[in-house]
Amino acid sequence: MEICKKIIVIGAGAAGMMAAISAADEGAEVIILDKNEKTGKKLFITGKGRCNVTNAVDEDSLIANVVNNPKFLFSAFSAFNSSDMCAFLEKEGLKLKVERGNRVFPESDHSSDVIKTLERACKKRGVKIILNEAVSEVLNEGEIKVIKTEKKKTYKCDAVIIATGGFTYASTGSTGDGYKFAKALGHSIKPLMCGLVPFNIKESFCKDMMGLSLRNVRLTLFVDGKKKYSEQGEMLFTHFGVSGPLVLSASEYYAKAMRNFKKKEEPYITIDLKPALSFETLDKRVLKDFDGEKNAEFKNSLNKLLPSGMIETIVKVSGIEPTKKVNEIRAEERERLVHLLKEFRLNISSVRGSAEAIITSGGVNVKEINPKTMESKLSPGVYFAGEVIDCDALTGGFNLQIAWSTGFLAGKNAAI
Ligand SMILES: Cc1cc2nc3c(=O)[nH]c(=O)nc-3n(C[C@H](O)[C@H](O)[C@H](O)COP(=O)(O)OP(=O)(O)OC[C@H]3O[C@@H](n4cnc5c(N)ncnc54)[C@H](O)[C@@H]3O)c2cc1C
Repeated sequence: MEICKKIIVIGAGAAGMMAAISAADEGAEVIILDKNEKTGKKLFITGKGRCNVTNAVDEDSLIANVVNNPKFLFSAFSAFNSSDMCAFLEKEGLKLKVERGNRVFPESDHSSDVIKTLERACKKRGVKIILNEAVSEVLNEGEIKVIKTEKKKTYKCDAVIIATGGFTYASTGSTGDGYKFAKALGHSIKPLMCGLVPFNIKESFCKDMMGLSLRNVRLTLFVDGKKKYSEQGEMLFTHFGVSGPLVLSASEYYAKAMRNFKKKEEPYITIDLKPALSFETLDKRVLKDFDGEKNAEFKNSLNKLLPSGMIETIVKVSGIEPTKKVNEIRAEERERLVHLLKEFRLNISSVRGSAEAIITSGGVNVKEINPKTMESKLSPGVYFAGEVIDCDALTGGFNLQIAWSTGFLAGKNAAI
């Protein structure tokens, strides 16, 4: 006789809906509980409302873009990779397209179509979705799991999947409840930090450059005096500090490094404004520029080298008298300027708040979860999926792929 398992999934986000679908595909009777009035509230705002569903690369590249605990995801990515996710969505009727950097989006450019597709897939498989139902407690009573809600309802099931997301962007429902449930079941939680988030910078001159965006610069992050990240790309100055793609990526490594911050030296970034030129080549270039306009004042001599919005700040920080004639600038002053252009230092005071962080870094300790099944090693019959786990990645669709893959694995294994 076939026994149909009863499964409760907490959270109707990306991971929760995928977990429910894969559990139902294994023949389980599945209920999703979500505290929100609708499903996929965070999914709706992903990719600026377009939802960068995944990244069309192989598993090794998926792994390479995970910042915390990539190895933990080997099994999940091989069980359900980005091609599997694309095939699943297309089979369920959603057309996709691949853009720059292998980023996959719905052809319609509407995240709501991804949500509708997942809802339809749930419905087709008989998954029951109960909204406005905030879970307050998860108890493991051996064979039976007991789920209590804020409305004082009690649900009983054979297996529970905790897919409650992180603690960032809490307005979407991810208020960190999953950590509370996991702790009560005996789990440890790795330090929770904001990830994919802009930096607040100590130097007030960032404000003077607000709105200025830099392309083809190299940003390098140092924590405790050690290099933690270095990449070339785009960034942006804001009223509080810095933002843009390079900064968001750096913030992931910042969050990781700050777990073991020894306070030897304050964290900082340097910007190489001329990454294609060595110190020596840049020095020659500056010398040539100065030679070309010997009587120009220093403050008027950097137009060929820098965007206009940056000149005033660089002049100020260089310590060279702005009205000094360039032919009077001493070699050591020029060296200081070249150094500044290659290693423009900005000290990080903090990251922006959790309301602006795209992802939570930290979460349920992966050592306490079986990577092949997503089942808790401490509390049998309890599974984890998505952002609640201590795994996070760079931008490009990788975080959603973590949700799809871990959700798929958790659902499948909870059901069998
Ligand atoms: C602005 C923004 C843009 C993003 N863009 C992208 C992108 O384009 N591509 C990408 O890969 N990633 C993107 N991300 C990250 C991505 O959204 C997350 O990685 C992903 O949503 C995590 O899925 P999840 O199911 O684990 O959590 P969530 O999507 O947060 O879902 C968790 C669900 O659990 C519910 N819940 C929580 N606690 C309870 C409780 N006690 N009882 C009942 N229900 C509960 C919540 O209401 C919520 O619906 C973006 C994130 C943000 C904030």
